[in-house]
Amino acid sequence: MAAFWNEADFDEHELVQLVTDRESGLTAIIAVHSTHLGPAAGGTRFWHYANPGDAMRDALRLSRGMSYKNAMASLPAGGGKAVILADQARTKTPELLAAFARAVDQLAGRYITAQDVGMSEQDMVALSAVTPHVAGLPGRQGGDPGPFTARGVYLGVVAAAMRALGTADMAGVRVAIQGVGSVGGGLARHLAAAGASLVLADVDSARAKALADELGAIAVPTDEVLAADVDIVAPCALGAILTEQSVAAIRARAVAGGANNQLATGAEGRMLLDRGILYAPDYVINAGGIVSVLRHIDGADDDAINARIDLIPGRLEAIWEESARTGEPANAVADRMAQQLIGR
Ligand code: NAD
Repeated sequence: MAAFWNEADFDEHELVQLVTDRESGLTAIIAVHSTHLGPAAGGTRFWHYANPGDAMRDALRLSRGMSYKNAMASLPAGGGKAVILADQARTKTPELLAAFARAVDQLAGRYITAQDVGMSEQDMVALSAVTPHVAGLPGRQGGDPGPFTARGVYLGVVAAAMRALGTADMAGVRVAIQGVGSVGGGLARHLAAAGASLVLADVDSARAKALADELGAIAVPTDEVLAADVDIVAPCALGAILTEQSVAAIRARAVAGGANNQLATGAEGRMLLDRGILYAPDYVINAGGIVSVLRHIDGADDDAINARIDLIPGRLEAIWEESARTGEPANAVADRMAQQLIGR
């Protein structure tokens, strides 16, 4: 097993289940990091991995990330994640989804699944025909979490402006957004409505240009956006974009965006701090989506969900305050706070 995962990623997971179903061709991993605060909640990713070790690493890291995210969002939920190992053609059949749903069901609520990369809303509805342990379904369960994530990120960006620039008035504040999909596009609209001056980039350059035209923003090539001459950079596309190299080139005073796993290794948090760049830990600022997805726990409506999302800036401020007090990078402070909450 040593080659299958490394100790650091395993991090005392409560359960790691490898699921196979010969008839449907399913191979999946369900990772439950912690149920200390409640059932382990986190999405299912459907992805083709070059080798099973990569899938295991992804499942373990994402599952621990959900433990931290849910704990810091004060949700009565632990952290888990599932990964379905797709074949190269990404063949997804009803039989394969049903076999996966049966595996989720056998955990009897210890793991609650939701939508993630490669899974559609219809796929989640299909899973819910087999198991009740599916969250964030369309309709009364809130559906697409993107707009809720975007709103939380917007509030976090305003908090970052307050801390780094001394103003919560976004009029004229220059913000660069990397990736203008569900989260980045929503963030751009909130910021434009508040009068911010926007620089947008997306690998889908037509998408960035169309939104820039609509909002009176500037579209730039993707390789320029992180180093743009702006006040705040908001990564809202891929993970691992904050590297030694990219951090050295940042001209903004703060990095606050919705993408998951922004720091390539974790060490970049120290570099950001040393360069005087405020960093909003990703899983704290982007928790709006999971807050909405887990609304079934107490039947909260949109107003109650938005009230919970309103708490995100306060959490960021507490982290920045502690970082200023101890000299620890913000990401390390957030990890430590989360570990305390989940009893690690
Ligand atoms: P999305 O697919 O709707 O949008 C992503 C956008 O980024 C797309 O327009 C894509 O073309 C663009 N993109 C991809 N690679 C890029 C690159 N190298 N440079 C610039 N643009 C690039 O996805 P989303 O739901 O908006 O999620 C964005 C990020 O936020 C992801 O990291 C995701 O994990 C994270 N996140 C999303 C949610 C949510 O509720 N949707 C919640 C928490 C975290």
